[in-house]
This record gives sequence, structure tokens and C-alpha cells, in this order.
Amino acid sequence: MPLVDSHCHLQDAKFDDDRDQVIQRALDTVEWLVVIGDDLASSRAATTLIRPNVYAAVGIHPYYAATVTPEALDELRAMARAPSVVAIGEIGLDYFKYNDTPRDVQAEGFRSQLELAAELALPVVIHNRESTDDLCAILDEYHTRLPGGVMHCFAGDAAFVERTLSWGFHISFAGNVTFPKAVELRDAARLVPLEKLLVETDAPYLAPQPVRGKRCEPAHVQLTAESLAETIGIDLDDLRTATTHNAAELFLQERSTS
Ligand SMILES: [Zn+2]
Ligand SMILES: [Zn+2]
Repeated sequence: MPLVDSHCHLQDAKFDDDRDQVIQRALDTVEWLVVIGDDLASSRAATTLIRPNVYAAVGIHPYYAATVTPEALDELRAMARAPSVVAIGEIGLDYFKYNDTPRDVQAEGFRSQLELAAELALPVVIHNRESTDDLCAILDEYHTRLPGGVMHCFAGDAAFVERTLSWGFHISFAGNVTFPKAVELRDAARLVPLEKLLVETDAPYLAPQPVRGKRCEPAHVQLTAESLAETIGIDLDDLRTATTHNAAELFLQERSTS
């Protein structure tokens, strides 16, 4: 049965004790998955997990935007040349209260990684938390130079869905779309055309409802897919097929880089 986890952090220390079993369960459940970096070390670690049906994305999260130096960009560029590195991410903006990285530093780190993605003709995995207006202004500028992108762990309203679609980007839902109180998020999910929809776990975070509060792992994407199919009112098989096709279109497209 087709299914893809479009966003997980299998290199996270929470998987140190049983990573091989977690990957085994993952690949028993999904066709393939993408391990996402959030700083240089985790990006490196993501690339070491590459194997058949395990792909990687490399990038620096807005929490660590101050580390986006020219040297760091050179290392990301070098890592991104490996054939199974399929995107630059996760990158973006995060204005949540625990992030004390100044907004101008975040914007600078975001922009220079969007430049890198454009240079390498790689799609982008976008992180946004309480920073929608500034994020939209930057992506309005860059989207035409990018071969696609995904708004990961989508959180937002109808207007943000529309804006994201205007860039031709995909929209990915994580386990939080299954939470009983996530009524607005489910309303947003119903507005996403099936051909732009993705599912993810963001493991080890955001375990979906039946396993909420536990460590999340990629195999749990199945639970999010079931819930999302019910929300949208489509057959689970159709949702699996569509999201798998969409993920391949975004991440596994043939590219010509020079
Ligand atoms: Zn994120
Ligand atoms: Zn993530």
C-alpha cells in the first residue's frame, strides 16, 4: 500500500536506542520517507541514514539561523549534491516565544538557504511558526526560482492555504491535525486540493491522537493518514495513493543541475 512520511527526524537522539527497529517498522509501513535536518550536525546525520527508500533533506532551522555562515552554506551545498538528498530543509521563520534568534537574523538565514535551493534546483521544506506574514513576503519573492516546496506541519487558515498554493507549493499535515481540538486545522485541510496534499509525522514530535504524548515514529503516519482521509471525506486508499504520488512529484523529480 502506498504511503510516504514526508518529514521525520530519525537522526534524533530519541531514536538512539532502537533506530534500526524504528526504520524497519517505518519501511514496513511506508514506501519511503524523508529524514530532515535542522542544523549542520543533524543534516550530516540525516545523510548517513540514506539507504533504499530513505532520503534526506539538509538545512538549518530558524532556531539556529545564526549558524548560517558562508562556510555552513558551503557544507550544505556539498551535502546536497548526494543523489538521495532531495530538498533543502527545514528552513523558515519561527517567532514562537522560545526562539530568541532575532528576526532579521532568521530572515537572513532563510534567504541565503532559499538562494542555495534555487542554485541547486532543489525544492524546499518550510517551517513556519507564528511568522506567517513575514514568511509569505519572503516566499512571494523567491518561489518562482524554486522547483517547488512544502509547508510542513501546516498551521494556518484559509488565507494561508491559498497563499501557499499560489506559490505552487504542497501542504503537509502532521499528527496535530488529528487532535480533537484542531477544528480549524481540519477546516484548512479540507481546502487543500488532493494533488497538493502530503502527510508527515515530524517524528519524534507530534504523535497523532491514538498515540498522542508518546514518542512519534514514521510508522505512525498511517494514523494521521486515516484521520485526514476521514476529515476530507475520501477513501483512505485514495489518500495514500495521492499523497505518495505528490511526494514523489515534489521530492523525486528529475533535475538537471549544472
Ligand atoms: Zn518544523
Ligand atoms: Zn521537523
